Amino acid sequence: MSEQVFCGAYLEIEAEKQTIVKETLVCSDHPEESGDEKNKFCPYCGKMFVPVKFEEKVKDALISLLDTEFEDELCEPEIEGDNLVLIGNKYDAKFPDCSLFDLDYFEVTEAMIKLFKINFAKNYEQVIKVLEARIGNRLKSMTIKFGVIIYFS
Ligand SMILES: [Zn+2]
Repeated sequence: MSEQVFCGAYLEIEAEKQTIVKETLVCSDHPEESGDEKNKFCPYCGKMFVPVKFEEKVKDALISLLDTEFEDELCEPEIEGDNLVLIGNKYDAKFPDCSLFDLDYFEVTEAMIKLFKINFAKNYEQVIKVLEARIGNRLKSMTIKFGVIIYFS
């Protein structure tokens, strides 16, 4: 793992979390005891565990939103927070949307911010549409921003 510094356009998605129904095996008398395929009986009372359904709210992950066709287009840096932050994965020198990583330093200009955001929208037009459709009515906002992201990869 090494620290990465990204500077450029990225996509920030704010969405209601997905509700996933999961099932677990618990003891009806000792709900804190849970079982699995191998452990079918409660160690305290010997009762057979019973399946219980529960809902879990999960944040969207890029990998679960995209099909293989688009999965390499964007990547999801590991960062904290509830919003999904996605950066581009295909560098196009003709239409740059993020910094060149071999540069030691560079000045961020107003023109660069504007251009990179426009290029990002163009470079990832299709995949952005797919994401929008997949998230559907859970989507609160989807914005192309410009900024710095520090993450480990
Ligand atoms: Zn029990």
